[in-house]
Amino acid sequence: MDNNKNEKINILADLLFPDISETIDVLKKKFPERNIDKNSEVTRFAPSPTGFLHTGSLFTALVSFLTAKTTNGVFYIRLEDTDTKRKVENSENSFLKELKIFNIIADEGIEEGGKYAPYKQSERIKIYHTVIKELIKKELAYVCFCTAEDLDEIRDIQKANKQITGYYGNYARCRYLSIDEVINRVKNNEHYVIRFKSNGNHENKIKLYDEIRKFISIAENDIDIVILKKDGLPTYHFAHVVDDHFMHTTTVIRGEEWISSFPIHAQLFSALNWKMPKYAHLPLISKNDNGKKRKLSKRFDPEATVNFFLQEGYPIESVLAYLMSIINNSFEEWVLKKKFKDMFSFPFSINKINLDSTLFDIKKLKFFSREFLSTISAEEMTKRVLEYAQTYDKNLEALIQKDKKFFTQIMNIERNQDNPRKDYFAFKYIEKTIAFFYDEKYDTMFKNGIIFDEKIDKKIVIDALKDFLEVNNVSILENEWFDLMKTIALKNNFAINNKEYKENSHNFVGNMADFINIIRVAITGSKISPNLYCVLKILGKNKVANRVQKNILQLGAK
Ligand code: GLU
Repeated sequence: MDNNKNEKINILADLLFPDISETIDVLKKKFPERNIDKNSEVTRFAPSPTGFLHTGSLFTALVSFLTAKTTNGVFYIRLEDTDTKRKVENSENSFLKELKIFNIIADEGIEEGGKYAPYKQSERIKIYHTVIKELIKKELAYVCFCTAEDLDEIRDIQKANKQITGYYGNYARCRYLSIDEVINRVKNNEHYVIRFKSNGNHENKIKLYDEIRKFISIAENDIDIVILKKDGLPTYHFAHVVDDHFMHTTTVIRGEEWISSFPIHAQLFSALNWKMPKYAHLPLISKNDNGKKRKLSKRFDPEATVNFFLQEGYPIESVLAYLMSIINNSFEEWVLKKKFKDMFSFPFSINKINLDSTLFDIKKLKFFSREFLSTISAEEMTKRVLEYAQTYDKNLEALIQKDKKFFTQIMNIERNQDNPRKDYFAFKYIEKTIAFFYDEKYDTMFKNGIIFDEKIDKKIVIDALKDFLEVNNVSILENEWFDLMKTIALKNNFAINNKEYKENSHNFVGNMADFINIIRVAITGSKISPNLYCVLKILGKNKVANRVQKNILQLGAK
């Protein structure tokens, strides 16, 4: 470069960034290498504040967190808030809150602070400007005054010529402006962006390494991408490279939607002469939409936002277990054996991530939920349901608070045993299952009409209930109680032996299950309920008698 040109470039650089006196070298000293083991990973979660935490983002955060945790590394959170069009005010707080709920705790970040602060991109503008100023001086970046109309025109020409569209090669008009013109136009306050000068060729295939997918063969980038927007803020591409460099990220873990811009990032690292971190592009959590696989979308799928799981009352362990089962096939067996204890100690490895099973599967989530909830004590269950209710369901809260012991007894039904019941999967639906325990709820059900099995004559139902009333006693053991039920069933001509019933069903009014269901329907209003003996025990003799009597009267009156 001749001296004159050199001088002019320096003038331009100062004109563009009058406040920047630091250099990349100064930044290097400010943000020195991390003092960590060779094998420890530094990972990050870099959300944009778009108003909600996407389920896929929780997945990304979880994988990043586990990668750092299992290697004694560092996991940090960086807020990528430079896209002012997409930004939703205050949404960063809900992000952070939700991550904490899921026990994904950062070592450094917006709230925690840390040696590499600030962790919010909007507060790192000076850093980006410092790097860009140097790129300008090295002629690796340039000022572009093209308007939206100019870009449209270029695109139209390229389309007509059947060429790839974009700002590259000879189409990158502003690349070729003289420095004098650029200086004048900047001085005249013309709007501009700053572009990176690509030396790539789209026809070259380059190989980039991904920790999950191994080598990816992809076209080299030849587009002169915008690195600094009109508003003075950097684009994602540029901020990502600068931040992950100065924060010393060892593995960039992000969604696979970024694979297409991976060549841009590789090129920026190379132009800046910085060592590239490792990259892992995670599969997107998707949905099968009439045979087509598509990304979970907030607009169509409630389960696309993390808030959905919280509102429904899925225990966090089951959501995490579900996401971890996507990561690794052998996780399910491991976590069930460990009864969900210490889940984050799973021997996790990023390159074992399964790329095939990312279809969101609510059945699987429910499975993990039922399993998890069956492993905790009744007291813990009550505590969790209450916590849920306090935020999301005031009626349920009042119901529990009225008599916590009673609620805990209900939660304890067939819990402390080898094969505990798996009735519950999300707290929101618990009330419906257990409402009949509460007299006021039962009374409403009764008013709305209790429906007995229509194939059994009403008179038989009344007689069965009357006989049951005679022996209404649950102060005996369950097997004794069941024997007692058999005697009344027999007396009312129900078959207590199923084989006999199958062979000669016309000789009986029903079988033992039909008989028990009469009692069950009278007491709970439904053919489906937890273990009836336990229900009777919790309700107590008087309430049971009351309900049976009401039904006898009602049936008799009809
Ligand atoms: N801010 C980007 C996003 O929200 C993050 C991508 C990355 O992790 O680098 O998609």
